[in-house]
Amino acid sequence: KILVPFVGLVLAFCFYSKEDFKPEMLKGKRVIVTGASTGIGEQMAYHLARMGAHVLITARTEAKLQKVVTRCLELGAASAHYMNGSMEDMALAEDVVKEAKQLWGGLDMLILNHIGYTYFNYFDGDVEHIRKLLEINFLSYVAMTVSALPMLKESGGSILVVSSTAGKIGIPFVAPYSATKFALDGFFSSLRQELIIENINVSITLCILGHIATETAEKTVSHVMQKPGAPKKECALEIIKSGALRKRELYYPYTTVRIPLLIRDWTPEFLDSLIRNSLNVEKVKRS
Ligand code: NDP
Repeated sequence: KILVPFVGLVLAFCFYSKEDFKPEMLKGKRVIVTGASTGIGEQMAYHLARMGAHVLITARTEAKLQKVVTRCLELGAASAHYMNGSMEDMALAEDVVKEAKQLWGGLDMLILNHIGYTYFNYFDGDVEHIRKLLEINFLSYVAMTVSALPMLKESGGSILVVSSTAGKIGIPFVAPYSATKFALDGFFSSLRQELIIENINVSITLCILGHIATETAEKTVSHVMQKPGAPKKECALEIIKSGALRKRELYYPYTTVRIPLLIRDWTPEFLDSLIRNSLNVEKVKRS
């Protein structure tokens, strides 16, 4: 007897939460995408360009950024600019936001996506590496958010934080990276609550990604994975959609990310063993 109303409630919730995405939602919007010289960030810049957005992209390698900007303009971006430099420098993080203000006078969407180089292996005890990675993968995200919030409050904008299954679940061989991604969840989930309490119309979407077939992932982790990565172009589109629809969290690919998260809270030991068994751990040699 109790099952019927419960299923009804679940179905009603599913339909209620399904607002349609339309590419026009991004037309003329002013968007910063960090880490957009390659991988998922580059694909996000191209999707935004096709949708007619203004884009400001960042990374360290100027030559790659120039190519991405050229391609964005060919695809129909309302405007396309870049700023290059390393995000371990908090001044750069703030300058990127100032540049958006100068270029457009405001900002609608901040997509935080860049990551610094790390190893895929047993934790090597290097504390300095974790400090540097926290600066690039976490503190610069906070610095950009602080600088961008006044403009985002004005526009009723959104912040998209690109994270990983390794930011929700303990996965071996990525301890420094995982620490930075867990930090993002803690900071941005807390900030989201404060924005809601204060009725501030800025959304925060945490994007939890599984294995995606980018060049970096192919080089570093693909030999240990038993399945190929999901397509980066589709992943990039799902991130933009989730931000435009102001979702709380995105899980992509849905089942490979969502199901482990559901198991995590019920039987964490079982999930830990599933993860160890899903990796070709014998292929990781302690360096
Ligand atoms: P890529 O390695 O392809 O891209 C990383 C980007 O960050 C590049 O544009 C790179 O450009 C830039 N970057 C690197 N170091 C710095 C630095 N010190 N300062 C500023 N920018 C820097 O990554 P992916 O596309 O694979 O990943 C994108 C996001 O998705 C990341 O947040 C990642 O954690 C997340 N993710 C990816 C998964 C995957 O399987 N690919 C899985 C789960 C999450 P440059 O070198 O020129 O600076």
